[in-house]
Amino acid sequence: MLEISKLHKSYPIGDSSLHVLKGIDLSVKSGEMVAIMGSSGSGKSTLLNIIGMLDEADEGDYILDNVPIKNLTEKKAAIYRNKFLGFIFQSFNLINYKNAVENVALPLYYQGLKRSERIEKAMFHLGKVGLADWAKHLPNELSGGQKQRVAIARALAANPKLLLADEPTGALDTKTSHEIMEFLQQLNDEGKTILIVTHEEDIADMCKRIVRLKDGVIMEDKFVTQVRASQYV
Ligand code: ADP
Ligand code: MG
Repeated sequence: MLEISKLHKSYPIGDSSLHVLKGIDLSVKSGEMVAIMGSSGSGKSTLLNIIGMLDEADEGDYILDNVPIKNLTEKKAAIYRNKFLGFIFQSFNLINYKNAVENVALPLYYQGLKRSERIEKAMFHLGKVGLADWAKHLPNELSGGQKQRVAIARALAANPKLLLADEPTGALDTKTSHEIMEFLQQLNDEGKTILIVTHEEDIADMCKRIVRLKDGVIMEDKFVTQVRASQYV
């Protein structure tokens, strides 16, 4: 699914630079559910953004679904991003003036579907996250957990091979966090490959593998017995 080797990333700060990723090697197979952990500032989001083609590495190789991701034009990158990747963020990143179903339909715009087909497909995905009755509601009329469900439906709308989640439960209470994790586990049970950045141990334990970043390197990478979220919800 993805192969990363000797990946480096620095950010310029004034005249010097901050070396954030210092030679990351990571390989993820189809069907995995991986937690990326590490303290704040350890480079988790930087790594996820590179994997998600929202940012580029300075050095190293990244192969996604057999495609080397390097020096792609903005247009090609957008096509791959839309075809391969779904994103979920801590702050949901929904568009405030669009209702739930319109938010879910957004990624379908790039697939050349007619508006009626986009809405129909978006309704299907909204139904899958249990929010069919909330389709016409704006994000500010939804709870945090509901907003994240809309974001998950949006991430899934274009049927991506890889789902990337940056602190998806970071803005949610424990119960809602576990509901979201239960949903992500079900998706993974159905075969979806998922990478989750988190700094919460209980969330990481609900994945099947934990990768720990420290000072720009992977200090630990282990497979774990998955704790099922359903036992808490
Ligand atoms: P994490 O997600 O683990 O908290 P990040 O990947 O967001 O960490 O950030 C790693 C380090 O890189 C931090 O010190 C952060 O301040 C810095 N950083 C992140 N993005 C940028 C940027 N666009 N420009 C400059 N520095 C950045
Ligand atoms: Mg982060």
